[in-house]
Amino acid sequence: MKALVKTKSGVGNVELREMPKPKAKEGQVLIEVKAVGLCGTDIHIFYDEFANNPPVILGHEVSGVIVEIGKGVTGIELGERVTTESYFKTCGLCYYCRNGKENLCLNRLSIGSRVNGGMAKYVVVPAKNIHRLPNNINYVEGAMTEPLACVIHSTLDMTKISPGDIVVVCGPGPIGLLTAQVAKQAGAVAIVIGVKRDIDRLRVAKELGVNHTVNLGEEDVIELINSLSGGRGADVVFECAGVEASVEMCLRLVRRAGQYTQIGLVGQKVSFDIDQVIHKEVTVRGGNASVPGAWVRALKLMETEKVKIKPLISHVLPISEWGKAFNIFKEKSGLKIVLTPVD
Ligand SMILES: [Zn+2]
Ligand SMILES: [Zn+2]
Repeated sequence: MKALVKTKSGVGNVELREMPKPKAKEGQVLIEVKAVGLCGTDIHIFYDEFANNPPVILGHEVSGVIVEIGKGVTGIELGERVTTESYFKTCGLCYYCRNGKENLCLNRLSIGSRVNGGMAKYVVVPAKNIHRLPNNINYVEGAMTEPLACVIHSTLDMTKISPGDIVVVCGPGPIGLLTAQVAKQAGAVAIVIGVKRDIDRLRVAKELGVNHTVNLGEEDVIELINSLSGGRGADVVFECAGVEASVEMCLRLVRRAGQYTQIGLVGQKVSFDIDQVIHKEVTVRGGNASVPGAWVRALKLMETEKVKIKPLISHVLPISEWGKAFNIFKEKSGLKIVLTPVD
């Protein structure tokens, strides 16, 4: 089968190559991949800024059909439309596993970085990771379950959003627009901030019903947040751009005793005024990937269209056009890019 492989460590070293079709062993299922999302993590792996075990097939945002069922697996049938959680293995024994924080497992192996992922015709995963796709969710949308589950973990598990909160989301990419939608569903007033080149993304944010959008090239964000909050600042800020200037701005916009949650991966060191955390008594958090419960909520929010996925998908390309897809991603000219397998 054709697969997009990180062939060895170092910058680049990614190519479409022939790989053996995997088989479902005991407790596993084989998915025929129908769609796989391109994620910042894949780009970070390209640049060797995210831990990986080459040679490894990229891709962890998978949807597809069950085509083979391993020994001992019950409750799943051939032909079911599914998505899969991205952990191939957690140990169940470490401190974090024993405390319900499998996402922090010291021995966690995830598909697309440590073990073969879904940028291929087939991928093998543990059967326990499978979630059925609702009938009204197509495969391309289904590939967005993983990013939405990660967003739900960061926004609803790690952060406390209360109805009426003023929530600022910096960075109107796919993750930012999912974050803003979840915040709105939690009862917040959601404000999405972007820069000049984000004009199309901010338009999509408006279509999705976020309360306010700010183009930093043209509008004064401080003035807006002050007018909405009586001069206090934002109750909650989510940094989804993963760039230094945005980190700084989020720390500036959050109110005293407010919450700051980092969602965007920066991939390098950034400098910011950490004293602000003291002066303002800001609670700073991060969310690492997702926990199983976030997947259940993600699929329910998608099924009921409380979180809209379709407007976020700007490109569907065959995996053979991965170079073009990576470039579109880096230029930030689109929104979500979803790849489809090739023979
Ligand atoms: Zn991802
Ligand atoms: Zn563990």
